[in-house]
Amino acid sequence: MDNNNILQRDLTFLKGVGEKRANIIKRELNIASWGDLLYHFPYRYVDKSQYFKINQIVSEDLYVQIRGVIMGKSYKQSGKTQRLVYTFQDGTGIAELVFFKGLSWIEKKLLPNKEYVIFGKPTKFKNTFSFVHPEIEEALIYANQSIEEKFSPMYNTSERMKKAFINSKTVSKYIKEILIETEGRLEETLPDYVLKLNNLYPLQTALREIHFPSSANSLAKAKYRLKFEELFLLQLGHLFEKGRRISKSKGFVFSNVGEKFNSFYSENLPFPLTNAQKRVIKEIRKDMRSGHQMNRLLQGDVGSGKTLVALMCMLIAIDNGFQTALLAPTEILATQHYHSLTKFLAGLNVNVALLQGSIKGKARKNILSNLEEGAIDIIVGTHAVLEDTVVFSNLGLAVIDEQHRFWVKQRSKMWQKNNVLPPHILVMTATPIPRTLAMTAYGDLDYSVIDELPPGRKPIRTVHLYDRDILKMFAFMHRQIKEGRQIYIVYPLINENETMDVKDLMDGYESIVREFPLPEYQISIVHGQMKEADKDYEMQRFAKGQTNIMVATTVIEVGVDVSNATVMIIENSERFGLSQLHQLRGRVGRGGNQSYCILRTKDNLSKEAAHKIDVMCQSNDGFVLAEEDLKMRGPGNISGTEQSGILDLKIADIIKDEPIVRRARDFAALVFDKDNSLTHPDNILLRNAVLKQRPLTDFSKIS
Ligand code: ADP
Ligand code: MG
Repeated sequence: MDNNNILQRDLTFLKGVGEKRANIIKRELNIASWGDLLYHFPYRYVDKSQYFKINQIVSEDLYVQIRGVIMGKSYKQSGKTQRLVYTFQDGTGIAELVFFKGLSWIEKKLLPNKEYVIFGKPTKFKNTFSFVHPEIEEALIYANQSIEEKFSPMYNTSERMKKAFINSKTVSKYIKEILIETEGRLEETLPDYVLKLNNLYPLQTALREIHFPSSANSLAKAKYRLKFEELFLLQLGHLFEKGRRISKSKGFVFSNVGEKFNSFYSENLPFPLTNAQKRVIKEIRKDMRSGHQMNRLLQGDVGSGKTLVALMCMLIAIDNGFQTALLAPTEILATQHYHSLTKFLAGLNVNVALLQGSIKGKARKNILSNLEEGAIDIIVGTHAVLEDTVVFSNLGLAVIDEQHRFWVKQRSKMWQKNNVLPPHILVMTATPIPRTLAMTAYGDLDYSVIDELPPGRKPIRTVHLYDRDILKMFAFMHRQIKEGRQIYIVYPLINENETMDVKDLMDGYESIVREFPLPEYQISIVHGQMKEADKDYEMQRFAKGQTNIMVATTVIEVGVDVSNATVMIIENSERFGLSQLHQLRGRVGRGGNQSYCILRTKDNLSKEAAHKIDVMCQSNDGFVLAEEDLKMRGPGNISGTEQSGILDLKIADIIKDEPIVRRARDFAALVFDKDNSLTHPDNILLRNAVLKQRPLTDFSKIS
């Protein structure tokens, strides 16, 4: 049997594992082979290499080991149960050892005046710590045991496994057997030079030490090797994929910066670009001149001026004789983009058109034929633009706004809108991706960040109000409305059952109507169960200033710009994640007036919820909040991570292991720069590993 196959061996090849046990392990842990089990790492270790003094024991949380002698014993009765209690001392204090079962056996085993090593979890009772059914070993025998046995691994198991007598100890026994059988036969998975340059343990050592560490230090080194390998291969895979994509995807070359771009820049631009905007435009221009198709994600906090960046890039495309498209997820957003582009472009000879589902009949026909003839330079629209009937004469750049609302599949349709080559794609999002996550999960994307807001913005003031503060809230709302401002009130989607959510929303709506009655006050309401047209109608009324208050679910989260709205009230805000709260808050603060965000919560908050609200009140920075969100909820809850591989990590933790993430990424870049096809003989292992990760070239995540 060769080296590789040894890891494919079925569990039944282990002593003591028959069909039945193998099946249970398979079902409970999804472990079928020796290799699987070898990579089932301990979740913690019990350290029996050190002794505690009894007077040093302070906590009930930790297992401890003490060493001493028996002083006396007594039987105690409570109700029907009898227990045997020994007093035990080590010269610094006294502890009790308590037994309920196997009493006669214990009595034979535990003798006075002999030294014992006791291991267990202490519980405190009337100032004395007691150990219930601890592990007991004669000190003399114990002294002869190897350190390995004293530093023992704990493995996850399940109730079903325990019922079949497979506990952590059993698992550890199986793993030990595998380690013995595979000694000297495990194929190294990383090239020699990678091990040397990064000072890594060989695989065999790492696997042995992670299960049965010979010291705390070697355990740390073993973990490091395995984490590094995991993160390094993931990064390398991303780079490899990106390399393949770039070399395959030819793109239009926009070599001119022409008349339209220049006259916009010198005449129409109403304010200086921020440095971040300038930098990002440069990055995009470079892509569009490279000869390869651009596939770039542009990230910038709400209000950072992404639309303007998009416009200037579109002008470059137009100057090179191409058409462009700007896609938004909703009609109201598309309309808004259309108006702001037309305003920006006033007096320039650029033809902008708006296409969405509600535009029908002759108007639609006109747009379609103009588009096909090349008379339209910029088409702004919703997914109506994706339809097959929409044909371009020469599409060169598609910008997609607020990406998380668009399905990947739909987006990839834009690729096919030019028969010669796929157009350049720019995806814009306001949902910040934490740095660590971006490095690990999106290593294969081109990615630009606008990390600066235009000058002179008044930071939104965020305050926390409890449910019981309702009168305070009403008073504040009255004042703002009197000053002519508008207000959002948002309710979370809580239940699976949408009807229930809408009921919450309707209850809220009724209480608002009672406090702000017609005809003096006008109130809009929008939720997911309404028809698209009704939603739009209500949004428009609010956007035009015809209503004072907008009561809504999170459907309003995305990009609508109502600059007169200065108050965002979020009900049950403890139920939202940080990123979403920040996103909602970004709906206000768009005009010259001071804006406010009121986070309402129930009166009794958990510690975590209170922390979350606190963070929101203290920071307006989307990136800070995104990092915090990642820490609080883990990568599994951050959208867009599903295909990134980071959710399948076996041992590395992209938050706690950030330094390793960095080193692995830098090293992967180094390897890739030298040998981007991974065909050098030294890199054969890496190439195989990477191809195993990604057997197919799928569409890029943002395509
Ligand atoms: P977002 O990134 O959220 O899409 P927008 O593109 O809607 O942001 O920009 C928000 C507002 O800031 C718009 O009114 C826009 O005109 C304005 N703006 C954009 N860039 C600048 C700048 N460099 N200086 C001042 N205001 C700017
Ligand atoms: Mg925007």
